This record gives sequence, C-alpha cells and structure tokens, in this order.
Amino acid sequence: MSTITREEAYALGGACGLQFEELKARATQKREAAWGRTVTYSRKVFVPLTNLCRDKCGYCTFAKEPGTPGAGYLTPEQVLAIVRRGEALGCKEALFSLGEKPELLHPQAKEMLATLGYATTIDYVIAMCELVLRKSALVPHVNAGTLDQSEVRRVKAVAGSAGIMLETVSRRLIGRGQAHFACPDKVPVQRLRTLARAGEASLPMTTGILIGIGETWVERVDSLMTIAALHEQYGHIQEVIVQNFRAKSGTLMAHCPEPDMDDMLRTTAVARLLLPSTISLQAPPNLNESFEQYLLAGINDFGGISPATADHINPERAWPAVDEIAHRSSKLGMQLVERLTAYPAFLHPRQVARFFGPKPLVALASLARNDGHARHQAHPGLQSKMEVLV
Ligand code: SF4
Repeated sequence: MSTITREEAYALGGACGLQFEELKARATQKREAAWGRTVTYSRKVFVPLTNLCRDKCGYCTFAKEPGTPGAGYLTPEQVLAIVRRGEALGCKEALFSLGEKPELLHPQAKEMLATLGYATTIDYVIAMCELVLRKSALVPHVNAGTLDQSEVRRVKAVAGSAGIMLETVSRRLIGRGQAHFACPDKVPVQRLRTLARAGEASLPMTTGILIGIGETWVERVDSLMTIAALHEQYGHIQEVIVQNFRAKSGTLMAHCPEPDMDDMLRTTAVARLLLPSTISLQAPPNLNESFEQYLLAGINDFGGISPATADHINPERAWPAVDEIAHRSSKLGMQLVERLTAYPAFLHPRQVARFFGPKPLVALASLARNDGHARHQAHPGLQSKMEVLV
C-alpha cells in the first residue's frame, strides 16, 4: 500500500535540500524492508521482431517507415540466431519488443506478414514465442503493446511475463504537437485496458512511466497512483519502471529538455512510497551515467541487461557491463542478483498455477533456483564482454 497520500506526493514535486534527502531516505527504508539489500537484473536478449509501427511517438527512433533501409520483420531464422547467441552467453529471457500493429496502417507490413505466413503481428509474436520455448531454454517476455482479451490469453500461454509501459495517464499528450500525437495505441485508456485485461487473465506484467515527455508532476503522480490501483485490484504488476526521456536527433522532440538526475531520483523515491512495497521498482542503468544513485532513491532492480544485443529503443546507450553494475552496487552495500523474467513471489508454489501456462512454467522451473531467482551458470568472459549482435 501507499506510504504517502496523493496530496503529499503532489507536494513533493519540488522537494529539495533536507526534504529531498528525507524523501530518499524514506524510499530506501521502504525498499529495504521489502527487498533487503538485494538488487536484481535479468540477463536477456532483445528480439526486435518488427520495427514497423502504426504510431508516431515524438521521441522514437526505433520505428522505421516501410521501404526505408532495415525496415521490416525478423525472420524465424534471425529470431533463433539471436536466441541461440543469448543462450550461449547465459541469457535466460527473450524480450520481444516491437512496433504496434503496423499491418493496420501499412499495406507493406500486411504483405510481409503474409509472406511469413501470418495475418497479424501478434499471430507472428505468438508463433515466435512458441519457437523460442521449443528450440531454446529461454523464456519469452512480450512487449507487444495494446492487446485485446483473447490476445492477452494467447500471450500468457507462451510467455513467462509481458509488459506495456503506461508512460502517462495524461490525455493532453495525445494533442497536436505533443509526444503522443497520432499514436492510437498511446491513448492512456487503451493502455490501461490492456493492463486490466492482463490482470483479469493473471498475466504477470511490467509497466511504468516515461518521464520528461511533457507531463506535469501531478500527472506523473496520477500515473503511479493508477498503476497502484490496478495492482490492488488484480495483484499482477510485477515491476514498475521509471524511465527518463532521452532526446534523440532526427525526432520531433530532439530539442526538448531531458529530466535531470534530481528529477529522476525524486520521481523514483515518490514511486517507491506510492506503490505497494511488493512491486519491484526499476530504473534503467544505461540511460544515466550515475545509475547507482537510483539505489539511494528506492529501486531494487536494474531491469534487462544484455550481453548479446543492443537496447534497440536507445541504441546509442550501451548497457553497462554486469560486473560494473555489481561493483557499483556493492559500494552502496547492495548485492546484484540475477532474476528470471518472473519474480520469485510469482514463482511461489502457491502462485504458479494462477500466473503461468504449462509451457512457460516448465521453462521457468528449469532455470529457477530454490528461492526463485536465476540459477547460476558459468559463462567465461560474459561479465565484461558486450557484443552487439544485431
Ligand atoms: S515508441 Fe513504440 S509505439 Fe511509439 S512509435 Fe516507437 S515503436 Fe511505435
């Protein structure tokens, strides 16, 4: 449950000096009471199944227009090549990240899917997850955007977890000139419906907020409160990401100011105090040089780190090496531990029948140690070697 009220959170938007220090201390205390001095990460490969998309987010460099170099879908062979490389490097998660429903806007996307033998992008996602489960030890995590009820159920049958960033509840940002103009899948109610459908289906979910895209502090707090309410209703939110907007050249928001470190820390600390303590709180370590400071504002997770693939959403930001993250965490008294795509609480024997389909559960069980974290495997050279495969 929340440790502070909505009104208190609203008032913390400008916290500085002693108030800022107290805020971070409260967040850290709440983190330690629930998660101890463990900070987790998931060793994964990123599978950018398609970079075509029907949305036009003002900050995105991932999506490509049909006909431009590199635009299209990965083939099953390319998916398997990424997954096998990740497997060899000790990865345990295959994160499918992709544009939203490109076939509804681009006839070329429909044709490419037909050539692959599928009618829709989500059909192809499901088939590729089945392929990964069949041909590798990795467990799929699906970030496929907005989904209807039957799509959520199909994802649950082939994935250990799924994700959709809420980003914001602000409808202002779908207006002309705003970050989410011309983005039918970024209308907040559509994303909230997907999160609620996942709750109804007991599909373990990742969600989060993207800060610095034009939202106000009040809207940021409202987004976090909305996520907390969804979790209180369904109990299915595994983790919440607080992600900072990074301005990229060539985008509509190339010249917009980025959130500074204090803004990130203030938001992260307030998120920790607003969200139920059982929700894992994550901030990405590759989007800020001083990422270990997030540990001083209540996070307990650094998210997906890949020794094999780039961050396709922020390709200019390389992942720090796992041993670097471990070293910098340990200097703050935190131990870095590898987790699976599903968190230990969801893998508890009393919960598994509710949260997982039979195939993902078998895959997760073979990778989990007794406490639900990832089983250790030795991979020479893995810790510091960053190889970009695609
Ligand atoms: S951020 Fe995602 S939804 Fe938005 S344009 Fe890029 S790929 Fe599409």
